[in-house]
Amino acid sequence: MAACFRLRGCGAPRLPPAPRGRAPLRRLAGAPAGLPAALLRTDGFVGGRWRPAAATFPVHDPATGAALGQVADCGVAEARAAVRAASEAFRSWRGVPAKERSSLLRKWYDLMIQNQDDLARIITAENGKPLKEAQGEVLYSALFLEWFSEEARRVYGDVIGGPARDRRGLVLKQPVGVAVVITPWNFPSAMITRKVGAALAAGCTVVVKPAEDTPLSALALAELADQAGIPPGVYNVVPCSRQKAKEVGEALCTDPLVSKISFTGSTATGKILLHYAADSVKRVSMELGGHAPFIVFDSADVDRAVAGALASKFRNSGQTCVCSNRFLVQRGIHDSFVKKFGEAMERSLRVGNGFEEGTTQGPLINEKAVEKVEKHVSDAVSKGATVVMGGKRHQFGKNFFEPTLLTEVTQGMLCAHEETFGPLAPVIKFDTEEEAVAIANAADVGLAGYFYSRDPAQIWRVAEQLEVGMVGVNEGLISTVECPFGGVKQSGLGREGSKYGIDEYLELKYVCYGGL
Ligand code: ADP
Repeated sequence: MAACFRLRGCGAPRLPPAPRGRAPLRRLAGAPAGLPAALLRTDGFVGGRWRPAAATFPVHDPATGAALGQVADCGVAEARAAVRAASEAFRSWRGVPAKERSSLLRKWYDLMIQNQDDLARIITAENGKPLKEAQGEVLYSALFLEWFSEEARRVYGDVIGGPARDRRGLVLKQPVGVAVVITPWNFPSAMITRKVGAALAAGCTVVVKPAEDTPLSALALAELADQAGIPPGVYNVVPCSRQKAKEVGEALCTDPLVSKISFTGSTATGKILLHYAADSVKRVSMELGGHAPFIVFDSADVDRAVAGALASKFRNSGQTCVCSNRFLVQRGIHDSFVKKFGEAMERSLRVGNGFEEGTTQGPLINEKAVEKVEKHVSDAVSKGATVVMGGKRHQFGKNFFEPTLLTEVTQGMLCAHEETFGPLAPVIKFDTEEEAVAIANAADVGLAGYFYSRDPAQIWRVAEQLEVGMVGVNEGLISTVECPFGGVKQSGLGREGSKYGIDEYLELKYVCYGGL
């Protein structure tokens, strides 16, 4: 009702009056006290209604292993229904004036801010990150809705004078259509709004398939989208288990009603989705793996580099695709950097449950993730690396790993050429700028890269030469909604956020206007 009222008020096309999602709220059995019942949803959200599925799958707190609840395990039928709902809604949503779409996104943003603490608690419960970081993610996530609520009103076309007197060329920007949005568990909220904000602003509708580890944040966003008056079918969510991800992913990404696939996750899964896209020639945005170098040159301010290294490496326990994955440190500054970095890790990092005050390092998402860090450490040590700090599972619990610092790391070690996605900082010593750039670029991915230097000419040279989509110069945290996020090489295709992000959801149409 709320949506119809708002839309009617501005003379916009009416959307189909689907019943809204007001099924009784179901409290998650066994959810830790303090989780917000009003935002905890466990059914899929399709066409503005909460829909259970024939089966459910469990969601666990990675810190304790406790079951948070059972979530609808949507299958191919639910996926297709969601695409149909999105396709029907698209017919109306594309015609809703940009100002109205903008207001609805803004309302959604306001509701996220009003519910910031509750949304953060959900993130900490299902992802494990410290509550403070989760609050930061909610703000970052909400800011994408705010940003794209503003960008919605700034989609401009062009008028082109051609070779003929009696003709003009017009360029219109139109929404691509239904977008499938597949997201990872490391930013359960922000990876959704970064895509969905842009899509809705452009006039597209979406079907979101959230990661199986963290579906509750996506469903909480659906609850708020509904309260904000986002019309039925514009934002749909089909959660599913890992077992069903392949068939649901395939159903979504091959459906002829879908025009766009936007994915954040591993390069391996991205390649599968690119095959689907190729078969039916769909637009794609891919945010895939990284292997970020963090270079410290002799000319660097060591203390600043250490602060940047801590922030860039250990946020989310090292589980972000822009986390520094390897530290390249020039010989002259190496020992001083390692000493200060180790001391800063000792002083600043505290492993524990994300709900506990003072925790900076929560659990990894699951045991498989812990095994990968363990493998990278043992491989490096077996090939001659030295453990300066940490190096093993943390006694706090089975998904916890000690913040680890390794030196004497060489190019032949796994951690030097694979993304670790955990709290491991391997340090490689180098002699020259050329050597550092060559090591940094010897990767088949290129998402973020960081370096510390106080030499202006060196800063210019290295920023240009690094084969990555984003560079931090004397900065370890660089993501912000105003700037373009994305990678080169096998780190992906397209850019998100910023003034460029909305283009991923727009088609250009050339209209030749003759007979003038
Ligand atoms: P991770 O290994 O860290 O979970 P993935 O790339 O496998 O990274 O997962 C990111 C997202 O992709 C999740 O939502 C996951 O369910 C989904 N996913 C995984 N495999 C497939 C697939 N074959 N088709 C569609 N989605 C998939």
